This record gives sequence, C-alpha cells and structure tokens, in this order.
Amino acid sequence: MRVVMIGTGYVGLVSGVCFADFGHDVICVDKDPSKIDVLQNGGIPIFEPGLESLVAKNVAAGRLSFTTKTKDAVANASAVFIAVGTPSRRGDGHADLRYVYAAAKEIAGYIKGYTVVINKSTVPVGTGDEVEAIIGNICNSSNFDVVSNPEFLREGAAIQDFKRPDRVVVGTLSDKARSVMRSLYRPLFINETPMVLTDRRSSELIKYAGNAFLATKITFINEMADLCERVGANVQEVSRGIGLDGRIGKKFLHAGPGYGGSCFPKDTLAVTKTAKDAGTTLQIIEAVIAVNEERKETMASKVINAVSKDGNLSGKTISILGLSYKPNTDDMRDSPSIPIIKKLVASGASIRAFDPEAMQEAKRELPDITYCRDPYECAKGGDALVIITEWDQFRALDLTRIKELLNAPTLIDLRNIYSPDNMAARGFNYTSVGRPS
Ligand code: NAD
Repeated sequence: MRVVMIGTGYVGLVSGVCFADFGHDVICVDKDPSKIDVLQNGGIPIFEPGLESLVAKNVAAGRLSFTTKTKDAVANASAVFIAVGTPSRRGDGHADLRYVYAAAKEIAGYIKGYTVVINKSTVPVGTGDEVEAIIGNICNSSNFDVVSNPEFLREGAAIQDFKRPDRVVVGTLSDKARSVMRSLYRPLFINETPMVLTDRRSSELIKYAGNAFLATKITFINEMADLCERVGANVQEVSRGIGLDGRIGKKFLHAGPGYGGSCFPKDTLAVTKTAKDAGTTLQIIEAVIAVNEERKETMASKVINAVSKDGNLSGKTISILGLSYKPNTDDMRDSPSIPIIKKLVASGASIRAFDPEAMQEAKRELPDITYCRDPYECAKGGDALVIITEWDQFRALDLTRIKELLNAPTLIDLRNIYSPDNMAARGFNYTSVGRPS
C-alpha cells in the first residue's frame, strides 16, 4: 500500500519507518527542508534508539523515501497520515491546530482516487469533523474518509511501542476506511494486538484521557513522596506496596521532579480547555496541572536548601546531570530541567551541565550555562551534583571520583537512583525524593 506521512518528526518518522518495515511503500513529507536534507543524506534529525538502522534498512529496500513536496507524495496514495505538531496555543492553552488544518488543505488539493486521511496528531474532539469539512470543500465526499488513529508511542522506546502496541485505536464508522486501516496494521493482527474500532470523537478523546490519566498517576505519587518526607516513610516502598495491586499497576509510580515532555503538559492543558468549551470542568486534571507546575519550584528549592542556608547561591556552582525530560531522547520540550535550572540561576548559581543526547537542543532554552563533555567534567568544581534525568550511564557513576571532583560531597538525586544508606556510607550529603536520608 502507498502510504504518506505528513510531518516527519518524532511520531511521523517513527510511524513512517515502521509502516515501511511492515512492507508498505512510504513517503515521509516535511516542510522543513533541513530535516529532509538530513534524511535524504542518510542522517537522522532526532535521537531515538534503533531508528537510524531501521531507516537505512527500509531506504535500501526501496520502501521509504523523503520529500518536501506534498503534491508528488499524495497523488496515488491510499493512506495519508497527518502527524504534524499540535503545541499549546500561546495565551489560552488550547491545542494549536493550524498545522493540522494547513496539512488538510494541502492534502485536499492533490487527492486523486479514494484516499483515507488519517489523523495521528493528538487533536481535540471534533478536529476530524473540521478536517473532513476542509477536504470536503475541495474533494468529492465519496473520494475520501477522515479517520482518527492516535499514537501512543513513547520517545526512547518508540519503535518497540509502535511495533508492539498495547492496542491500536481506529476512529471511523466507515467500513471502507476500516478495511484500509486493517491492511495498514495487518502485521499487528498476527500478534493479536487488540484493535479498538470506535467512532472518531471517542478515538480523539481516548488519547487525551490516556495522557491525562498517566499524568495524574505521576502527580499522585509525587504528592505521596512529599507526605513520605514529612512522616518518615519511603515512597519507593509505598509505590511497590500499591503497585502490586493489579487494579493500580506498577507503572508511572516513580516519584520525581514532575512530568514534562512534548505531550503530557500540553495535552492535560488542552483537555481542560475542551471541557470548559463543552460547559464542564475537569477538576482532577486542573489540580494535576497546578501541582505539577509547583513541583518544579519545589525541586529547585530542594537543591537550594541542600546547598545554602539562606537561599542565596551567589558564588556557588551546581553540576546538573540530565537535561532531557526523560532518558533515551534528545527532546527538551517542557523538560523539568528548564524551570529548575532557571530558578537556580535566578538564585545566583553558575550551572555546569551534561546530558548524553540533549545538549544541542538544550542550548536553545539554556544558552548561558556551561555544557560539559561527560559527568566527571560536569562534577568538577561543583558545590553540589544534581541528577535530574535518569540516563542509564548515571546509575553507575564512579562515586569516588565524583566525590573528589566536587567542591563539597552534596548529591541531590531527583530520580532516586542511588540508595540513601550507601551514599551516607560513602560520605555524601545525599538528598532524594520521598525517602528518609
Ligand atoms: P514534531 O514537532 O517532532 O514533528 C512535527 C513535524 O511536522 C515537524 O517536523 C514539522 O516541520 C512538520 N510539519 C508541520 N506542518 C507540516 C506540513 N504542512 N507539511 C509537512 N510537514 C509539516 O512533533 P511530534 O513530537 O512528532 O508530534 C506530532 C503529533 O503527535 C503531536 O500532535 C503530538 O502531540 C503527537 N504525539 C507525539 C508523541 C511524542 O512522543 N512525540 C507521542 C504521541 C503523540
């Protein structure tokens, strides 16, 4: 099947290469010529484990190509995905749909035979109706269907998530479109992946409800961590104790510096706006957003309190390990590291930082900090070392060397990757999240 992916970012590129690996002929389109240039020359514009070799394999097999020209790609395609960004709209927090609507308009101009237009971007309820209207202004309605097919992949494990999803959600009542969707995802049926065939509006809301629920789970355990600190309990024990209950589940119960990234912050906000427009209030999600915002402030204060009694960090250097919002990605969008570092800087600190993949991206938001080559260069001369992102390589640091390099043996572990007892035995002033030190 000839498949087109409009938008070649984290979702479009991964989805495109995975569909090619399923055996389809895929053209990935992006309006950013620098991205397409990198891809046409065998490079990868983002960091995602396993992506480079999978792209190379499918390009070599002749099933995957890249272009900036929507026209050439869409004519003769059976399925056209929209996988463009839907960031928060400045000022009001609604999802900004201008890229989705622009893509729909472009696609409409080039549709020839029956084509299924599939929205993979995360979009508010009713966006599919609008996309249908935009295309219907130009094309005969029998020539196309608009389907919602939200994406649930996680950056850092994107290929595995795409190829072995918990479920595939398909929102359309058209039998013809459902049949195209089944053909697209045929290899997953062999693994008996559940397919949720539903209407378009429910499908659009499933994505927001899922992300809002996960953000709630993270925020819940973060608040429990605060309580643990007050009452001398250990949040990791609490997480284990409740997570073993099958009704609760173990995942997303790790206390830390708050959720971030390209999805949870904007999607939780957007769904509360959708609710308001519909005349109702999502009070739980509104509370989650407020608690998560506050969390980053609290985490910065945790660092400040560990280093200075009066809150003044003038003349102090803080060494930061991990900048991306989670390990195994270079994505810095809404990373908790940004507000934490900005507050430390506002308190007078100089910052040295290291991240295995995200430093290039980080420089846009944090241009004035010192970027280091590795964790040890980062620790050198620091008055404290702060772990913000739990990259695997930070789990096995040479702590003797780190202690020698630091000005003071103070370590603030915002991901609980080290043991308080062990760190105390090594002579560190160790602070973590929700655990007695
Ligand atoms: P991204 O910013 O990485 O990529 C979007 C790409 O679309 C950009 O490269 C941009 O240049 C391109 N683009 C915009 N308009 C275009 C047009 N008219 N024609 C061609 N290209 C165009 O975004 P992303 O992270 O891949 O997210 C895409 C969507 O998927 C969003 O709605 C997001 O919420 C959702 N989503 C993201 C993830 C994730 O982990 N990143 C997971 C699930 C869902």
